[in-house]
Order: sequence, then C-alpha cells, then structure tokens
Amino acid sequence: MAQAALTQLSDDERMFRETVRQFAVEQIGPLARGMDEAQQMDAALIEKLFALGLMGIQVPDEYGGAGGSFFDAVLAVEEISAVDPAVGVLVDVQNTLSINALLRWGTDGQKKRYLARLAKDTIGAYALSEAASGSDAFALQTRAVKRGGDYVLNGRKLWITNAKEAGLFIVFATLDPTAGYKGITAFLVEKGAPGFTLGRKEDKLGIRASSTCELVFNDCAVPAAQVLGEPGRGYKIAIETLNEGRIGIGAQMLGLSEGAWVHAAKWAKERRQFGKALVEFQAMQFQLAEMATEIEAARLMVYNAARLKDGRLEFVKEAAMAKYFASHVAERVASLAVEVFGGSGFVKDYPVEKLYRDAKIGKIYEGTSFMQLATVAKLVL
Ligand SMILES: Cc1cc2nc3c(=O)[nH]c(=O)nc-3n(C[C@H](O)[C@H](O)[C@H](O)COP(=O)(O)OP(=O)(O)OC[C@H]3O[C@@H](n4cnc5c(N)ncnc54)[C@H](O)[C@@H]3O)c2cc1C
Repeated sequence: MAQAALTQLSDDERMFRETVRQFAVEQIGPLARGMDEAQQMDAALIEKLFALGLMGIQVPDEYGGAGGSFFDAVLAVEEISAVDPAVGVLVDVQNTLSINALLRWGTDGQKKRYLARLAKDTIGAYALSEAASGSDAFALQTRAVKRGGDYVLNGRKLWITNAKEAGLFIVFATLDPTAGYKGITAFLVEKGAPGFTLGRKEDKLGIRASSTCELVFNDCAVPAAQVLGEPGRGYKIAIETLNEGRIGIGAQMLGLSEGAWVHAAKWAKERRQFGKALVEFQAMQFQLAEMATEIEAARLMVYNAARLKDGRLEFVKEAAMAKYFASHVAERVASLAVEVFGGSGFVKDYPVEKLYRDAKIGKIYEGTSFMQLATVAKLVL
C-alpha cells in the first residue's frame, strides 16, 4: 500500500481541522485586536476553548478529554495561530507541554487528579526559565529542600506563559545546585499554594494577549506526592517535553505564516495601482509564490515531526529543524505581508501589523534559534 502524503489528512483529522478553523475565524477573529490592545485573554473565549475540547486534546476519554493525537494538537495550534498566535500559544502550552508532561510522567493518582481538571477548566503553565538561566536552563537556581513529607521551594521563575490564568504549574527546581542537571526536579504546584505568588506581568512586543509573568516562591511547601517523575530526574522531563513542545511552536509559526499569506494575497487581489490589481504584476505574483513555497516546506517539516512523534519514532532532530525553519518563515512571510499592504500594513487597522509583531517570539521561546541549531548540529555532525 502506498504511504499517505504528509499533508493528507484522515477524515477525522480533516473534520477536526475544519471545526477548529471555523471556531478560530468566527469566535477568535473578532476578539484578536481588542485582546492584543488590552493585553488580556478573553475569559469567555477560554471557556469556549475548554467546551470545544481544545484544552484537553490528548487527554484520554476516561479523564474527560478528547482522546486525540499529538498531531491533532498541532493542527489545532496551527489553525488558531492563523487567526491569533496569542491564543495559539495558550492552547499550545496547555496541550504540548502541560498535558504532555503529565501524560508521560504523571503517576496514576496525579493523572486522575490533574488531567481531568486540565481537560475541564484548569489552565496549565510550564516554569523552567529564570532570570539567569534561559538557554542554559539547567543552571536554574530555584531551590527545593526536603522537610518532612514536603519539599520547600524558594526562588523565582521568569517568562512563564499562561501564568495569570493558570491553575496548575509544572515548576522545575534543584535539590542541589552543586549537582548540576542531576539536582533538577519537577513539581506540580497549584495556584494559591501558600508561599507561591505571581510577580510582574511582562509588557510585550507581540502575543500580547498571552500572559507572561514572574513566579515567586517563598517557603512554598509542596507535598512529596506532587513531585512529577522522580526527584533528580526533572532534567529529563524538561528536555523531553521541550523536544516535543517545540513542534507546537513550529505549528504556531506555520499557522501565523498561513494567516499572513492569506491576508497578503487577498489584499494583492483587491488593491489597485497603475490601473491594475497588485496581483497582476509579476513581481507581486513571485513574492506570493515564494512565500507559499516556504510555507509548504514549513508545513511538511512540522507535520513530519508530529507524525514521527505519534509513531514513536525518532523526531528530535526533525522537531528542532521544524521549529527553527517555521519561525524563520513566519518572520519573513509576516514582514513581506506588511510590505504587500504598503502603508496599510504599518497600522493597526489591518491584521498583518499584529502578525508581524507576533512572529518574533518564534525564534526566542522553547529554545532560541541558536539552541535549535545546536541540537541539529549535535545530531547531524
Ligand atoms: C513571551 C515569552 C514566553 C515564554 N514562555 C516561557 C514559559 O512558559 N516557560 C519557560 O520556562 N520559559 C518561557 N520563556 C523563556 C524562554 O524560553 C527564554 O527566553 C529563552 O529560552 C531564551 O532565554 P533567555 O531569554 O535567557 O536568553 P539567553 O539564553 O540569554 O540568550 C540570549 C541570546 O544569546 C544566544 N545564546 C545563548 N547561548 C548561546 C550559545 N551557547 N551559543 C550561541 N548563542 C547563544 C541566544 O540564542 C540568544 O540569541 C518565554 C519567553 C518569552 C519571551
């Protein structure tokens, strides 16, 4: 039997994509600009994302989730990001980091307790980065000290997506700063835990509706049963979850590119100069064709990485390449889309200005472009 093409979707996948696309266009589109300006995710929209099953895509039916695949999560992030990449990252962190980590490393008790809530009404956040440890993530300084049946956390996390709305945080801390990566341990910390507060919320260039906050731990006692995986093995959870999660960021950047391209093509057909529609000029056609080609390449890379992961095959190199390439394409396509719109591309009345700002983050979070290249280099050389 012939192998299916990467972009060939099953009937279920196609129906799912159509449902998410329609939801994104009808329910997210009208809110995108206002949420960006207010730097605030719409609460009613979050409820609708839960109701549609988009906040628990891979959560098994037994816990009230949609029982979907990682590829389904990628499709959802792609379609939502074509309309609003800020909502895209909310859904992405929920599914490809928070839920994924619990599915892989949670005990039966933790899965029962938290997967059901994540699928129903609780937002997850993933807290690894600190002020002095970004790319060098395992230099983190947040400390966990065993005291009786608890671990006591002290320290600060920076740049934590979804923090303002989240009810559950996966927090990485070290049991022994001199032990390097071997001291790192992952904890499940609930909002409102004594000694845990939110710090400053960042005022960002793009994805402004997505909250990004500091977390502060001041003698925060976490029961030992809240350790995710084993003590001292958190580095493995961090590496492996991010290896998978960056496929989601590739999907976010892919969707953003598609959104920007569609706006640019529509504009080129409608806008007239020198007595013709812009799209009648060959120079304009070639720019749009080149963008479409790059988007197609990004799509193949993102879909391939996701299908490799679902197939339990090696995917780390492909995931790093996909995230690296898709974020490069997003920046280029969004920039060209602004140019296609001319002066209208530079103002907030049209959506490409926001997509241009939103594109920049793709090269920074879940491992900068240099860090992706470091992974690729290690695996190909
Ligand atoms: C909006 C936003 C949301 C985020 N969400 C989260 C989240 O939910 N959870 C979380 O844990 N973190 C999150 N982050 C943090 C993000 O992952 C880090 O910002 C990122 O990993 C880069 O770390 P850094 O900012 O410390 O930059 P640095 O590591 O200081 O890097 C600065 C520059 O130096 C380069 N560089 C670093 N080391 C090398 C090297 N060895 N060789 C060559 N170049 C190098 C980098 O590529 C980069 O260009 C988020 C960040 C932002 C901005």
